[in-house]
Amino acid sequence: MFWEHPQRLEFEAGGSCEGADVVPLGKGICEQLAHRNAGTVAVTLSQRILAAATPFRVSLTSTFRAIDHRAGLLIQGPAGWGEFSPFADYDPDRDGYWLSAALESAFLGWPQPVRDRVGVNAIMPVRSPEQTQIAAQEAVTRYGCRTIKVKVADPNESQQRECQRIAAVRAALDQAWPDGSGRIRLDANAGWSLTTARERLDQLGQFDIEYVEQPCRTRADLAALHRDKLVPVAVDETIRIDRAFTAVSEIADVAIVKVAPLGGSSAALAVADRLDVPVVISGAMETSVGLAASLATAAALPQSRFDHGLGTGVLLATDVTQPTLVPSDGELRPIAVAPDRGLLAEAESSLSSREIDHWRKRLTAALAYVPSQILELVP
Ligand SMILES: [Mg+2]
Repeated sequence: MFWEHPQRLEFEAGGSCEGADVVPLGKGICEQLAHRNAGTVAVTLSQRILAAATPFRVSLTSTFRAIDHRAGLLIQGPAGWGEFSPFADYDPDRDGYWLSAALESAFLGWPQPVRDRVGVNAIMPVRSPEQTQIAAQEAVTRYGCRTIKVKVADPNESQQRECQRIAAVRAALDQAWPDGSGRIRLDANAGWSLTTARERLDQLGQFDIEYVEQPCRTRADLAALHRDKLVPVAVDETIRIDRAFTAVSEIADVAIVKVAPLGGSSAALAVADRLDVPVVISGAMETSVGLAASLATAAALPQSRFDHGLGTGVLLATDVTQPTLVPSDGELRPIAVAPDRGLLAEAESSLSSREIDHWRKRLTAALAYVPSQILELVP
């Protein structure tokens, strides 16, 4: 099942939408709801979802994307739990994808798995080389991860320290797997120019890099780097933000597919089906509830030679489930998860009433960008 996400539509007040003062409805949704007494229907739909939603805030072990916590709403439905936790700088349009994913998890469920184990990578945020050394050793000895992703291109970090961090990861992997089968992947988050990317990859190639994720932002730069063949190239922002799904093999060797940013598990699988390169399913630093949706998506894809980017549970200092989804022998088993009552209450009490109000309003605004096929799932 796959639905196209509605394009951003300007709100047009008037007509049957006039009563919808709580929800800034997109025109398309207004039209869909017009025959159902639009204003009140829209408000009650939002209220019905909010009645099934619990606000939460969990802490991270270190800063990730310059944040030290994750917050949002967990939504409970007949199919399970969904997580709505878009990042702070997103607009309602992008939030709509995340809400679609959360509603799919809660009210529809995920596609059937084709395997019961998913190989995953560990992830190294930008920390000191010493901290990275400890974390990398833990990733291989405690969690059994044979693949480690290292965040790079931090403007506040020197090239020397970046190199030291990657060297520490390579050393930890080679100690555990002396045959050199441990894999390092880099993620630059589009932080390099083409010139810088060429210089850095020329130097970092010594560490035997599996691929570099989104080294540059533009298609032209990615294509040039891809032709260089210094290091295999993966694209993330190109897929997640640009939604550029065609002829990806001209600019990259691998595509990162993220479930919540693409609107849910079915949407992510449909994107994976359209892409002409191998796919790696990655999370978006969610709690174990959101992570479970990404894991189910990865488990619905056949085995490939690439581990998936789902080892982020290790970075959760607090979580809503017991236990947290962390790798064992480098793998995760796809399972349905439900929050632990005590942990969820703790996570909810970590938010101020103002923050809770913010998330409730944010969900309501995002509803205008959720496809009707998903809205119809809500009883
Ligand atoms: Mg990325």
